[in-house]
Amino acid sequence: MPNYINPAVILHSLDFAESDKLVTFFTRDFGKLKGVAKGAKRSRKRFGSGLEPLTYCTISFFEKESAQLVRLDHCAIVESYSHIHDDVLKVGYASYLGELIREMVAEREANRELFKLLTTFLSLINEPFFREEFIRIFELRLLALAGYQPELSRCVICRKAVNGNREHQFSERKGGLICFECFKGSREYPTLSGGTIKMLQRAQTIELTKVKRLFFSPQACEESRKVLPHFIESRIEKPLKSLRFIEHLGESKGVKYTNKCLK
Ligand SMILES: [Zn+2]
Repeated sequence: MPNYINPAVILHSLDFAESDKLVTFFTRDFGKLKGVAKGAKRSRKRFGSGLEPLTYCTISFFEKESAQLVRLDHCAIVESYSHIHDDVLKVGYASYLGELIREMVAEREANRELFKLLTTFLSLINEPFFREEFIRIFELRLLALAGYQPELSRCVICRKAVNGNREHQFSERKGGLICFECFKGSREYPTLSGGTIKMLQRAQTIELTKVKRLFFSPQACEESRKVLPHFIESRIEKPLKSLRFIEHLGESKGVKYTNKCLK
């Protein structure tokens, strides 16, 4: 039974049998895995609070031949992102990142770039300077890594290069922008201004260490919020619970996400 030690982010954790936990976690070198932590509800020594969702830890686990589930042996916290828990909206955003990984990433497909993306953006949510547009950048980068990159440089109908000074429409079904000549004044799809398109193009390529230097205008925040999360839902063909939670918070508390963008 090979034993592994690897950095991981806990995605989901569920009480299982009398004292065990069933845990979904995303490792740096083995991808997304599911496993059983025997006695986790009793053993603070072996697992501490490291199995809480969205904790970054070092996990020790082993595989049993012919078993789908791995066995978790030990867990040590690297980063608990404690400030996320000070703000219910941040909890919503962090849960959204976790749900996206759970829904869009296949089990046992290692992807170091994706692991770096997740830990980088959990750290950004944990920071006081967090802004909503960071979530849009995460979405775009995740879409690219998962093979669903939207077309933001050419019209998906006539293939003409996008004119950055004009508005375009965004078709979920066609997976990208439609130019003015092709949508011919109809209002079938959501509109993105030239400024918003430039921001999104920049977000597709910016180095992760420079993300905090990118500021969306309130218009870019609003337009991209109407497009990207729903594009993801259309691609995975199911609604995302954490997205509804974020939207509900925005409505019930009167929290306008654009406030976050203006900081
Ligand atoms: Zn066109």
